[in-house]
Amino acid sequence: MAASVATGSSNLHSGFNISRRLQGGRQTACANSPTVSFNGWLHKDLSWSQGAFKVLEMPKNCNLSQSAVTRRLSVSSCFGDGVSTKYFDFAVIGSGVAGLRYALEVAKHGTVAVITKAEPHESNTNYAQGGVSAVLCPKDSVESHMQDTIIAGAYLCDEETVRVVCTEGPERIRELIAMGAMFDHGEDGNLHLAREGGHSHRRIVHAADMTGREIERALLQAVINDPNISVFQHHFAIDLLTSQDGPDTICRGVDTLNTETHEVVRFISRVTLLASGGAGHIYPCTTNPLVATGDGMAMAHRAQAVISNMEFVQFHPTALADEGLPIKPKKARENAFLITEAVRGDGGILYNLSMERFMPQYDERAELAPRDVVARGIDDQLKKRNEKYVLLDISHKPRDKILAHFPNIAAECLRHGLDITQQPIPVVPAAHYMCGGVRAGLEGETNVRGLYVAGEVACTGLHGANRLASNSLLEALVFARRAVQPSINHKKSSSLDLSASSCWTCPVVPNALGSDTMNTILGKTKEVRRELQSIMWRYVGIVRSTTMLETALERVGELELQWEKLLFEQGWKQTMVALEACEMRNLFCCAKLVVSSAMARQESRGLHYTIDFPHLEESMRLPTVIFPSPAVNEMDLMKLLLGVFGILVLKMVTDATMVGSHADVWNCKFPAIYNFGDSNSDTGGISAALGEIPPPNGETFFGHPSGRSCDGRLIVDFIAERLKLPYLSAYLDSVGTDFRHGANFATGGSSIRPGGYSPFHLGVQISQFKQFKARTNRLGNQRNLPRAVEFSKALYTFDIGQNDLAYGFQHSSEEDVWKSIPDILSQLAVAVKQLYKEGARFFWVHNTGPLGCLPYSVIYNSDPNNLDGNGCVKSRNDAALEFNRQLEHKLSQLKEQLPYSSFTYVDVYSAKYRLISTAENQGFVDPMEFCCGSYYGYHIDCGKKAVVNGTVYGNPCKDPSRHVSWDGVHYSEAANLWVARRILNGSLSRPPVSVQDACKHV
Ligand SMILES: Cc1cc2nc3c(=O)[nH]c(=O)nc-3n(C[C@H](O)[C@H](O)[C@H](O)COP(=O)(O)OP(=O)(O)OC[C@H]3O[C@@H](n4cnc5c(N)ncnc54)[C@H](O)[C@@H]3O)c2cc1C
Repeated sequence: MAASVATGSSNLHSGFNISRRLQGGRQTACANSPTVSFNGWLHKDLSWSQGAFKVLEMPKNCNLSQSAVTRRLSVSSCFGDGVSTKYFDFAVIGSGVAGLRYALEVAKHGTVAVITKAEPHESNTNYAQGGVSAVLCPKDSVESHMQDTIIAGAYLCDEETVRVVCTEGPERIRELIAMGAMFDHGEDGNLHLAREGGHSHRRIVHAADMTGREIERALLQAVINDPNISVFQHHFAIDLLTSQDGPDTICRGVDTLNTETHEVVRFISRVTLLASGGAGHIYPCTTNPLVATGDGMAMAHRAQAVISNMEFVQFHPTALADEGLPIKPKKARENAFLITEAVRGDGGILYNLSMERFMPQYDERAELAPRDVVARGIDDQLKKRNEKYVLLDISHKPRDKILAHFPNIAAECLRHGLDITQQPIPVVPAAHYMCGGVRAGLEGETNVRGLYVAGEVACTGLHGANRLASNSLLEALVFARRAVQPSINHKKSSSLDLSASSCWTCPVVPNALGSDTMNTILGKTKEVRRELQSIMWRYVGIVRSTTMLETALERVGELELQWEKLLFEQGWKQTMVALEACEMRNLFCCAKLVVSSAMARQESRGLHYTIDFPHLEESMRLPTVIFPSPAVNEMDLMKLLLGVFGILVLKMVTDATMVGSHADVWNCKFPAIYNFGDSNSDTGGISAALGEIPPPNGETFFGHPSGRSCDGRLIVDFIAERLKLPYLSAYLDSVGTDFRHGANFATGGSSIRPGGYSPFHLGVQISQFKQFKARTNRLGNQRNLPRAVEFSKALYTFDIGQNDLAYGFQHSSEEDVWKSIPDILSQLAVAVKQLYKEGARFFWVHNTGPLGCLPYSVIYNSDPNNLDGNGCVKSRNDAALEFNRQLEHKLSQLKEQLPYSSFTYVDVYSAKYRLISTAENQGFVDPMEFCCGSYYGYHIDCGKKAVVNGTVYGNPCKDPSRHVSWDGVHYSEAANLWVARRILNGSLSRPPVSVQDACKHV
C-alpha cells in the first residue's frame, strides 16, 4: 500500500501560510474491475454521478431511493481513469469549526482525512463575526441560556439538546483556549463577554469582530500539527458511499473530486463525519462564502439520511448592499458583507430611501426587534416601494466610538467611498444560516450507521424555528465533541474492507466532452444557478405564501428539467462529475427540501412566515421531517428497466419526499403514554370512580389491590415496560401519582359511543385528557406533570370498541350491531381528531379481540351451531372481524387527513385468537376455564361455577399463570403477557413497526 504524497501548500485567507506535510492515507488503485455484483452494496442515488445509473441511464433525482434497484444489479465498477482509493479510520467532510474540532479528537484513535472543497480556511466559520455564546459569568446560568435559546427558537427547540449544549458550552470554550484560540479579555483579565440580541446576560466570547477567523486559525494550526490527520484541500465531496445491512444503511466513505488535478479520489472509512456547513447559496444574496452550497444536506438526503426543519432559513437583516455604495465593487461579491447587528444595538437607525424611519411601524422594539422581525420590516419596505436597499445610519454617534466598535465595517465601506461616520450604510437582508439540516441525535448520530453530523449541516434541535445569535459556533463545538465517543465505538466495531472500493461504480471526469462542450455546460449551469437563486429569493424568501411556494416548486422542477436536458443533449453521462454541475444538483436538491418543508408548515413560526397562516398554531409545534424515500419496489424496477420512463433520464425529479413530524426520528423516545380504553386497559379508573373491584384484584403483580379487571398486568403495562416508562396510573387515582410519563383515561365498561355499560365513554375520556392537558400547561413545568412540549411526543394508545359490540349484542339484533359499526368508528375518528388538535401525533391502536371466545359469550350462547372449531361464538367474532376491517380503513383515512400523524393498527384479535385456539400447546389450561376474578354485572365470581356445554367451569385457580381468562370476560396477566409479546414487536402491526418505533412511519 503506497502512501500518497501531499499536494502543495495552502495560503490561508487569514494571512498565514502553513506548509503541508505528507498525507498519511493508504492508497490503492481503483482499477478497472470486471462486472461485480452489489451483494448489498448500494449507491443511494439516481444521479448521473453514480455508476449504477450510467448502466441504467437513470435520471438524477435527489429524492428517490434506488436500493431495490441496485441490490439486484450487476454493474461494472471503477471504470474511470485516474481514480484512486484512500483508506482512513475517520473521514471528515469539511474544515470549519465542526470538522476540525472533531478531527483533532478522533485523531487520538486512528487515521483521519479532512476533506475540504476549497482552501482549508474557507468556511462559514471563518466569517463569523460576533462570537460564541457560553455561560461563563457567575451571574449567568444554564437555565437562563436555555430559556433565551428556547424563546428565540419559537418553542420548537428540543429541550434536551438545548440543555446539553448550554451545559457543555463553557468546557468547549476552555478547550478552545487551551488549543491556542485567543479571545478578547477585559481590563480585569477575565474573558470579555459581549451581549447580543436575545441574550439576557453577557455571554458572548469573541475576538474583536473576527471571532470565527481566530477559531479557524487556532484549530487549523492544531490540525496541521497533528501527525494522524491529513488534509485534502480542493477535494469536493461528491457523494457518500453506503451499503445495506438488512434495514440499516451504513456509510462506508465518500467519493471526491480533486478540483485542481481533476481526479476522482475515493475515501473508504470506518466512520464519516459530515461537517460541510450551510446552504446560503440557494439564494442570490447571502453572507455565506462560495463553499456553502448545501452539498452535505443533499449528499445525506441521497444517502437516505433524515432531513429536518429546512423551512427555517435565517435571513440576516443587514448585509451591505453593494449597489448603494458610491464606488461599486469591481467584481460582484461571492458573499455579501455582513453589517453586524451590533450596529443596530449601538443605536443604528433604519430608513427607507426617503429617509423615513420605518421600523417603529412594524414592532415597538423598532430596530432592536429580533432579526426575523427586522428582516420582514425591510423586506416589506423594499417590496412596497420597489427599492433595492434601505439605509442603516449610525452617523449620529461619536466618530471615535464608531471607529472603535466597527473598524472592519468602517474600513470596508470606506474602501467603496462611504464614510459611515458621516453617511448611512446601504443594507439588504441576506440568507445567513440554515437552522435545518441532517437530523442528528444527541451524539451527532444519524439514521445512517457510521455517519455522524455536526455544525450547520446538522439539525440537532438546538435552534428550533430560529437561531439565537452566537449559538451556532457553540452548537458545532458541542456536537463535534459529542460525536467522538460513538465514532470511536463504531470504528471499533467495523472493519476497513480493502476490497470495498470496487463495490461502487466510479464517477468520471468528463474529459471526453471536449472544452467547447464543457464551456457550454458550465456557462449554462451558471445561468441556471442564478435563475434558481432568483426563484428562491422571490418565492421562498422572508415572507411566503402557499401560492408562492407552489410556484417555486413548479419553477424549480421545470428549471432542473431544462438544465438536465441541456446537459444530456451535450453528451453528459450519468457517471460524470464536475464541481459546478455537482454543486448545481445539490443546490436544486436543497432548494426543493426547503420548499417542501415550507409547504408542510401551515403556520408562521420563527423564521418561517407565510401570509396564509400568519399565526402560531400549537398543534404544529413539531419539527418538519423529510424521510428517505421508500425503496423502489420490484415493479418500479421493472418499469425502469423496460424504459417505461423513457426519457426519464431527464425527468423523474420526484418529490417523493414525505414531510411530517416526529418525536425523534430514529429513536421515537416517547416521553409518555396516554391511554384510552375499556376494562382491557383500565389500570384503576373504574375503581377510583365507582369503588374497588372485589378481590383478588391485582395481587399477583402489585401485591396490593389495584382495582383492575385482571389478576395483574395489562397489555398497556407491557407497552409501558417496553418503552421503559413507569406503569400507567389511573387518571382519577391521582393522589401521589407521577404523571410525567403519561396518564390512563381508560375505565371499565367504556365504549366508543355514549350509552352502554359505563358513563365514561371515549368522549368523556378525551375531555378528561383535554382538561388534564390544559391544567398541566397552566401549571407549567411542575414536578410530577408532563412538560408542555411532550404532549406531541407522546404515544397515544387505544384499546376500545369491544363494549360497543358487546352492548349491541346484548341490547339489539346482530344485524343492528353490524349496522352500527360505521357510526362507532366515525365517533372514534372524532376523538382522534380532537387529540390531534391537542397535539397528539403518534397513535397505537389495538383492534378489538375475539369477543366470541370470551367464556361469558360462550356461556350465554344458546346456539351450538354458532360455535366454531375452537368453541368460540362465530357471530360475535364475525362482527369483531368486520369492526376491525373497517377500523383499519378508518385509520388509513385519518392518516391522510392528519398530515403529521402516525397510526399503527395493531391486530390484537389475531394474537388473542391464536392463544385461545392453541392454549394448551402454549402451556395454558382450557381457555374456557376462568377463575379467580370477580366481574361486575355477570357475577361470575371466583369460586362460582358456570356450565358451558355441560362442563363446569369457574373453580378457583391453583395456578393463575396457566389461565387465559381471569373472570370469564377479561384476560389474565399471563395471557396479556403472551399477547403483548406477539404484538409489541410489530409482527402483528400495520405498518409493521414495533411499539418502540411507532413514530417512524409518518
Ligand atoms: C458572515 C457570518 C457571520 C457569522 N457570525 C456568527 C457568529 O458570530 N456566531 C456564531 O455562532 N455563528 C456565526 N455564524 C454562523 C457560523 O459561522 C456557522 O454556522 C458555523 O461556522 C458553521 O460551522 P461548520 O463547521 O458547520 O461549517 P463551515 O464553517 O461552513 O465549514 C464547512 C466546511 O465544509 C466544506 N465543504 C462544504 N461542502 C463540501 C464538499 N462538498 N466537499 C468538501 N468540503 C465541503 C467547506 O469548504 C468548509 O470547509 C456566521 C456565519 C456567517 C456566514
